[in-house]
Amino acid sequence: MTAFQPALTTEDLRRNLAAIRARIDAACARSGRDPQEVRLLPVSKTVEVERLRLAYAAGVREMGENKVQEAHGKWQAMREAMPDLRWCLIGHLQTNKAKFVAEFASEFHALDSLRVAQALDTRLQALGRSLDVLVQVNTSGEASKFGLEPAEVVPFVQALPAFGALKVRGLMTLAMHTTEEARVRRCFVLLRQLRERLQQETAYGGAIAQLSMGMSGDFEWAVEEGSTTVRVGQAIFGARALPDSHYWPEGSAPA
Ligand SMILES: *Cc1c(COP(=O)(O)O)cnc(C)c1O
Repeated sequence: MTAFQPALTTEDLRRNLAAIRARIDAACARSGRDPQEVRLLPVSKTVEVERLRLAYAAGVREMGENKVQEAHGKWQAMREAMPDLRWCLIGHLQTNKAKFVAEFASEFHALDSLRVAQALDTRLQALGRSLDVLVQVNTSGEASKFGLEPAEVVPFVQALPAFGALKVRGLMTLAMHTTEEARVRRCFVLLRQLRERLQQETAYGGAIAQLSMGMSGDFEWAVEEGSTTVRVGQAIFGARALPDSHYWPEGSAPA
């Protein structure tokens, strides 16, 4: 794994963001895609508020966070000075924390149960809010990963119109934890194929357009396979101090 240098100034962050954007654009050129179809979502978990302010100064207007409480605390600390900052929850959610997500999040990328859908919908309806959601799929077959099995995805999405406050936008995945390119790409291809099935077989049709896939170690492959949102943390902010097992179940940390 590459050693990601810590970004400590607005200039560092600007440079890292521009370098990643250039690599996304190059991956688009290689695969005949329009770069405007691909969003770079900075992942700010473990990064302290002080450095998030620098990221804001570098032009960042949305942050991806894995843990609800950490994200909620940052939102509270930053909402007054930076009201246009959007928060995207990208990690597994327990139903008892749905009320926090409903309060402040703009997007949720890890929907994988009807119980969570119900809990979010109830809280959102009470607040008069809606939420863009992506359904997380376990494309790697690794037992420790969160997300639905591929065969469960179509019936699951067919049940989601019952939750009116959830705007279903697409699918999300974490690729297999390996440096073997072919096996990583297979995860991304599977997610793209599932999107096609959802477009044909559910009431959402073309509204299911987003594929949230690709991280610091594999985002170029993801873009070449059709990603519309890459979630990149360490290549922007620097290596995290905490091991990835803090964020994913033991043994399932992506490369
Ligand atoms: C941390 C995280 C990322 C970003 O990983 P990096 O290696 O920092 O790029 C992407 N997706 C999810 C769900 C994460 O928790």
